[in-house]
Amino acid sequence: MAKKKTKKQGLHKRKVGKNWKKFWKLGAEEFNTQFLGVSKDNELTAIEGHHIYNLNDLAQKYGTPLQVIFPFVLEDRLKDLIGYFQAYIKIYGYKGKFFYHYPMKVNQNREFVLPLISEGANLEVTSANELWLVKKLWEGEKFNNKIRVLCNGPKTDQYLDLIEELRAKGMNIVPIIEGPEEIERISKYKGDKGVRVDLSIKSDTRWDKKFDRFGLSEKDILNLPKMKNLKILHYHLGSQIKTQKSILEGVKHAFTIYLQLQKIYPSLDTLDIGGGFGISHEKKKFYTAKVVSSKIIKLLKNLSDKAGVKHPNLAIEWGWYIVDPAQITIYKIISKKYIEKANAKAWYIIDGSFMNDLKDTWAVHQKWHVIPVNNMTSSLKRVWLAGSSCDSDDKYTAGGDYILLPKLNGEDQYIAILDTGAYQDALSSHHCLLSLPAKIIAHDGAIKIIRKHETAETIGKFFGWNNGDDK
Ligand SMILES: *Cc1c(COP(=O)(O)O)cnc(C)c1O
Repeated sequence: MAKKKTKKQGLHKRKVGKNWKKFWKLGAEEFNTQFLGVSKDNELTAIEGHHIYNLNDLAQKYGTPLQVIFPFVLEDRLKDLIGYFQAYIKIYGYKGKFFYHYPMKVNQNREFVLPLISEGANLEVTSANELWLVKKLWEGEKFNNKIRVLCNGPKTDQYLDLIEELRAKGMNIVPIIEGPEEIERISKYKGDKGVRVDLSIKSDTRWDKKFDRFGLSEKDILNLPKMKNLKILHYHLGSQIKTQKSILEGVKHAFTIYLQLQKIYPSLDTLDIGGGFGISHEKKKFYTAKVVSSKIIKLLKNLSDKAGVKHPNLAIEWGWYIVDPAQITIYKIISKKYIEKANAKAWYIIDGSFMNDLKDTWAVHQKWHVIPVNNMTSSLKRVWLAGSSCDSDDKYTAGGDYILLPKLNGEDQYIAILDTGAYQDALSSHHCLLSLPAKIIAHDGAIKIIRKHETAETIGKFFGWNNGDDK
């Protein structure tokens, strides 16, 4: 692209022989697309060691809308992350231990939870129902007794009963006090416990922190009643933190509270810094886990050495960062409509729904990394995308900008939305009674179907239309 040209003109003048892998930002660690590439036939591929999956073939074979889950991506990402922290702990001579806790709410699918456990994840749950799933795993002996389970979220009686039941059975399970009404019962709990503080600092997330309703205030936390085995001070700043500065300021500020609390409760030995580590869907340069893990360990070491206290154990609950790139959602373009006088020239209508399947599009104006699955080297058109529900909000315009996709040439055109592994599945819904995407697992070179395309009958049942009741 010649320097003087504007970006717009440049896009229309792509030359043959362009590096399309680079153009679509694939095969790049900084974009979390290390495992993706372009085949000789100009189709999207995913590479797992010596196995290769052609996503165009999968879309044709299993039909769209289709979610493809890659457990090896989860495993690689967690292995790398734990590796970074362990390496810096060694390098800096840090004495505390490191614990990764997978926050189950980010994706509760079995196919996400099991690979993470096998790579050494502990767990964090937010409800009695999530904990019930953990109980099932436990009873099926899917994890060993060393795994620790942290319990956040409002503690209903049912939730607390289950926590106590599991502790009695030998699980290492730690309830975290989140509000004043939980103090009495949890302070009497016999096992280890934690407390969540609502830090008074502002952080760089998309959510307004001013009126956070989670955790105890910094003042209240220092006025807790006496209790044994208070082990963990926890905070969570919110999701998709935009800068590493915010992450580090959270640690620094929380450490001052850790020090004060430890004077009252000498059993306190762990700082749990929650989730919120981001990855960018806009494919801009972003802070990296390698750098931030180094800075966190260095910071905690310096702060505790200065204060003359033992280096705290460190727990993190980064969910989005680990699981988001492990799933791709594929749609087929089913029709096209021209648009006059806008950034985009046409609507491409997909055979699924942003509002149903990728709820954050509608809820928080999430941006997505959208690429073609076939015809990856064809000439491109600026488009907006629309879902096939009847709702005018069911669309994706990249924030009013445009998305570049191949011009339609009569053959089926598939598109992939990358990084859909976090949160979308549990948020999904059935507006206009559209079917959810089918779900497949790509693992060890083989494909397993986890959820078939829903039929009208299946969906009808969710709304009380049971078999045979109506003729
Ligand atoms: C949601 C949540 C997380 C995960 O946040 P991410 O942004 O996905 O990393 C971790 N801890 C707690 C307490 C949460 O509520």
